[in-house]
Amino acid sequence: MEIPVSSKVQITELLHNLGIPAEAVLLLLDGKLTPETSFAQKGQVAQILFYKHVPPLMNPQEISGHWKRAKHSASCTYGMHFPPKQKSSTSISRQSSKTSPQSKPNPLPAHKCKSSPVVYLPYAKEHLCKKHFSELFEKRVKRTIRTYSMLNKGERIGIALSGGKDSFALLHALIEVRKTLPFELVALTIDEGIPGYRDKAIENAAKRCREMGVEQHVFSFKDEFCTTISEIGKKGHENLCSYCGVLRRKLLNSKARELSLSKIAIGHNLDDVAQTAFLNLIRNEPLRFARFNEPVLDSEKFVPRIRPLRDIREKEVAIYALLNGHTYNSGCCCPNARNALRWAVRHNLNSLEDAYPGTKSKVASSFNTLQKIVRSSTKDSGAGANCCRECGDPSSTKLCMGCKMLGEL
Ligand code: SF4
Ligand code: ZN
Repeated sequence: MEIPVSSKVQITELLHNLGIPAEAVLLLLDGKLTPETSFAQKGQVAQILFYKHVPPLMNPQEISGHWKRAKHSASCTYGMHFPPKQKSSTSISRQSSKTSPQSKPNPLPAHKCKSSPVVYLPYAKEHLCKKHFSELFEKRVKRTIRTYSMLNKGERIGIALSGGKDSFALLHALIEVRKTLPFELVALTIDEGIPGYRDKAIENAAKRCREMGVEQHVFSFKDEFCTTISEIGKKGHENLCSYCGVLRRKLLNSKARELSLSKIAIGHNLDDVAQTAFLNLIRNEPLRFARFNEPVLDSEKFVPRIRPLRDIREKEVAIYALLNGHTYNSGCCCPNARNALRWAVRHNLNSLEDAYPGTKSKVASSFNTLQKIVRSSTKDSGAGANCCRECGDPSSTKLCMGCKMLGEL
């Protein structure tokens, strides 16, 4: 896919003119990860990696004829080529000509060393190379673990490893953390039965575990619940993500118990926290602020979940995964994702973040504050003290959501 440009163009301008939220992409120039504050030169090849799907173009007419964006489900990777000596009067070239075409591309030195920067952190106004970005990332994971008292020396914990970028980044970071805080790590991979999507991710997860020497267990909905997400969809049920999420949590919890794991680490990042906060508001479910998808009260049957990436933005998680060997070969996201409310919330948050940088952090921070307030008041009221009459899992009602859903299928 070629875009003719007559001069160099800054990546942020390019993305803006293409109507692509910078929040949702990573950019490779000549095959190397490049901060979006860099310039693309004539003759370079720019490749955009969508680590999350982006909303439709805001002004597709501006670039028609120069950029044909594939439909949402086509692919996560789009190639662009900047051929030399091409003339064009597109909005892109008009925009780019405003940015002093005679000057050389800005060298953007990494803050702490002379290596090429791979990421720009706008909130810190810092350009970082691979080494220093990875170090900063791991430092922040350790700080989150300390702040929320997530781990203790010698514990045997599980990691929910889907094979996607978030869980891969978490696995890699936890292996780094383990160098100074020894603990046992066991990977749990759930096969929900989504052909063409999860099977590829599971292969990826198994490969990573072999490479990293991590014990892995794979469990499937088919074996455990005698059905799959695909089969549930074929029966005409809607909101497949609700079935998928509830049953996955149920299975993770029961298997973690069987494997004597004290906690389950989940790859939720700051964007997920912000999205969850919005979803709770939109669905008028304020008590979910307290639960964050888990029971409020302690129960020996409930294996607590920890989220060491909860304070790190999704884009940085994607960059960390990419820099440390994760390959974005999953093709695209789950075919059911587009029907979920979270999909719309994610896109709108990306747009808000582009227009008002810092939005996600502020929403996540408000969520954390509200969670503490709601959690303390619900504890006082004794909410969530029941156990499911069918399976015995902790539940705020007599029948847990998992058993209710399975009963209705
Ligand atoms: Fe499951 Fe929905 Fe996620 Fe697909 S998008 S894996 S159906 S929760
Ligand atoms: Zn139950």
